[in-house]
Amino acid sequence: MRRIEGAQGEGGGQILRSSITLSLLTGTPFQITSIRAGRKKPGLMRQHLTAVKAAVEISGATVEGAEMGSQSLTFHPGEVAGGEYHFAVGTAGSATLVLQTILPTLLIAKNPSKIVLEGGTHNPYAPPYPFLEKAFLPLLRKMGAGIEIRLERAGFYPAGGGKFVIEVDPVKKLKRLDILERGTILRRQARAIVSALPGHIADRELAVIGKKLGWEADCLQKEVLRKPRGPGNILSLEVESEYVTEVFTGFGEVKKSAEMVAEYALRQAKKYLSSNAAVGRFLADQLIIPMAMAGGGEFSTLPLSRHTETNIEITKTFLDIDVTIEPSEKYDHIIRIDA
Ligand code: AMP
Repeated sequence: MRRIEGAQGEGGGQILRSSITLSLLTGTPFQITSIRAGRKKPGLMRQHLTAVKAAVEISGATVEGAEMGSQSLTFHPGEVAGGEYHFAVGTAGSATLVLQTILPTLLIAKNPSKIVLEGGTHNPYAPPYPFLEKAFLPLLRKMGAGIEIRLERAGFYPAGGGKFVIEVDPVKKLKRLDILERGTILRRQARAIVSALPGHIADRELAVIGKKLGWEADCLQKEVLRKPRGPGNILSLEVESEYVTEVFTGFGEVKKSAEMVAEYALRQAKKYLSSNAAVGRFLADQLIIPMAMAGGGEFSTLPLSRHTETNIEITKTFLDIDVTIEPSEKYDHIIRIDA
């Protein structure tokens, strides 16, 4: 039984989600305390409970403490079985984070899976759908897994109501991934989506990107959602290079101007583009577990986020891996994982 202090490091939901993932992968039970202790609303929220429930359903795990607001949880994993599953957060809580919890184990399950997920799909503080589709999943495919994903409806905070379907064709073992170089940039695309909000928001966001990044008109795409569930806006900047695609996101919010949303995404993209790093800060934390599963890998990245540091620590709690983090003149930072 591993004991996990939930308030360590980044101190949020990721410690719980990563512990569940690693527990399923290794068959090791764990007990976590002080779950999200430092957050405004501490303890488990709907989104975390849905992730726990999803893990129980795919593996027949047993849990204690899986209640709203609970700050401790004991988890005894079972054997993961691929199959057809449907998980709905029930609020605008992130459905992509529910997927983040169970996907690694389904990549190496004995059977294929088809999973329907409902909830928020374009939430701040979570991987937004375009990031999942264009940045994260293609790297998992390179590691050998077959993955198809389809967005049926976008769900924004606070209305939720998003839905996507993912199909996984598993492999015995993931292949290691080495992404020091990002290679030549092949394509740039800025996509501004508005849901139940005026179209000029998207126009203004795209105008900022056109002007400040110098991206041509055919790189700027506006999408006004038909049949929206509720108001929402997102701007994603996709940079597709030879060996990796990165996606930087600005999220619309009440009282935040379209220009501010664009500037936020722009700052992240500029930082990335002015470095030689292949992997941005969000992709970095999300690659740790798949690379550990593969028995190793390396990537160049920007200065490490607390999420990445925390994920490295949690992964080391469950798996016998060496992780080296090297500052690099050329690449900013290099993270190497060896099992
Ligand atoms: P937590 O804050 O602990 O719930 O974890 C949030 C997770 O969502 C981490 O894996 C982050 O990398 C991921 N995430 C947050 N914001 C973004 C974003 N803009 N793009 C991609 N992933 C994100």
